Amino acid sequence: MRRDRPPQHEVALTLPGWVSQHVDYDEPYPSDEARIGLVLSLARENERLGTGAPSAAAVFEAGTGRLVAVGVESVRRLNNSTAHAALLALQFAERRLVHHALAAVGQPAHELFTSAAPCPMCRAAADGSGVSRLVSAAGGAPYDG
Ligand SMILES: [Zn+2]
Repeated sequence: MRRDRPPQHEVALTLPGWVSQHVDYDEPYPSDEARIGLVLSLARENERLGTGAPSAAAVFEAGTGRLVAVGVESVRRLNNSTAHAALLALQFAERRLVHHALAAVGQPAHELFTSAAPCPMCRAAADGSGVSRLVSAAGGAPYDG
């Protein structure tokens, strides 16, 4: 198979098919524990089903616990070195909300939960997105943007 292709001007970011069966977007996640539980279960499933490394992330409305978007580590599956769980969750959240800023006027505050400590790229993306809080199930330095 030829690996080199003509220049590409579009990148498709997708989640594995099992994610839509695993995630109930109508279920509220009122506590940090519930939100951490979701990202940990997504991380486990991503590894168990062979779709990526055991890493996941999710964006919630801070006050209501409404689940906005999720992401799972997808670097190899998508041949994309930036397809980290947090980056996917942020991009899917911004697409769903049809806004590039999760802290825009008129928007509720949003929080990013991750199963693993975010790398520098994901931490910077979280900062740029406007999330009000980043919580890692793995602990680490708190982020309060
Ligand atoms: Zn990352």
